Amino acid sequence: MKYYVLFGPPGAGKGTQAGAMVERYNLCHISTGELLRSEIAAGTELGLKAKALIDNGNLVPDQVVEDMIEAKFRGTKGVDGFLLDGFPRTLAQAEALDSMVEKHGENVTACISIMIPDSLIKTRIAHRALVEDRADDARPEVVEHRIETYHAKTEPLIQFYKAAGKYKEIDGTGTIEEVRSRIFEAMD
Ligand code: ADP
Repeated sequence: MKYYVLFGPPGAGKGTQAGAMVERYNLCHISTGELLRSEIAAGTELGLKAKALIDNGNLVPDQVVEDMIEAKFRGTKGVDGFLLDGFPRTLAQAEALDSMVEKHGENVTACISIMIPDSLIKTRIAHRALVEDRADDARPEVVEHRIETYHAKTEPLIQFYKAAGKYKEIDGTGTIEEVRSRIFEAMD
């Protein structure tokens, strides 16, 4: 089984690129953001707790997303691997992921990192706010806080995956098709 981490700041285009990636490599797409948003939409207890954190641009607790990932790993059959989108987002989550895949006798295959500058993050999210109805995209101060959280808590993972020899950086600027071919080239 392949375990790909799809990495990048908010608005880098992870969700946009994930579809083509899962199709080409027969992967199961797991987006923790999407899973959390469906908990919110379904009005579950977990969703209610997560909503306040997400709407203010904060991360949900590590254990919550780790449990979601583990459940997906257990419940998915018939794929060649997983594409983890938006997970891990902290060093603790990255370490938990390593232990989860090691339990299956496997390893994280690669970290595909889509990089864009902070200025482009803001433009992309402002555009997405017009198309999708996400409370965390609507307020500039929340977007700002998500970018800060990314730099403080998530960016250290670059070093983590570099040290493991698994880090593949993709230039996330340009058109969707341009970024997609850079990703395929790296994964092939
Ligand atoms: P984006 O990458 O555009 O910020 P996501 O859909 O990946 O959007 O995530 C939306 C929000 O969901 C995050 O800001 C955070 O509050 C929460 N979230 C998603 N994944 C995680 C995670 N792995 N750990 C903690 N919180 C998460």
